[in-house]
Amino acid sequence: MPIFRSPLYFTDSVVQEICLRAKLGYDRKMKAETFGFLFGSVDKDKKMIVKKAIYYRGGKKSRTGVVFQHWSQIWHIIRRRKELANRLRLRFLGNFHSHVEIGGEVFRGLSVDDKESFRHDRAAIIEVVVSVWAGERNQIPPTIRGLAGYDTNTGYQYRIKAYTKKRHRVYQVPIKYVRPDGVVISV
Ligand SMILES: [Zn+2]
Repeated sequence: MPIFRSPLYFTDSVVQEICLRAKLGYDRKMKAETFGFLFGSVDKDKKMIVKKAIYYRGGKKSRTGVVFQHWSQIWHIIRRRKELANRLRLRFLGNFHSHVEIGGEVFRGLSVDDKESFRHDRAAIIEVVVSVWAGERNQIPPTIRGLAGYDTNTGYQYRIKAYTKKRHRVYQVPIKYVRPDGVVISV
């Protein structure tokens, strides 16, 4: 497992893609979480850049979680991640999933189950959660270490948090956003 230095760098395309996937799930009739993979690189200076987010079709996605019921599904995920990493010529870094607002409430961190599956996923170095809900811009509380965004077209708010693990401990890592022109900004 590669060692990287905090913070994590997210490219614009990754931020766009995970927010779009979270939105598509949130817009579904019964609302649903989303799930996918993250790929990128760790350079000589131990800087980790998350360069690509890819949605995964499999699993049973509901408003409270994404469930893989059989071992065959887990094997399929592992195969798919390797295949994609080879094709993209990038390293598999971890997974992303969303938390959707239900009845005015949205869970913005990792749940106990989220932490448990992250701990058991040996290949995953990071876990990213994107929370989505509808709300006024002035309701955005200041974010610490994560990324926050508001889409004026839909009125949706997004919050992105990243986590890593050391032995059995899961902890949050700060994220920086890399704009398409290469400029890095902290939010
Ligand atoms: Zn979760």
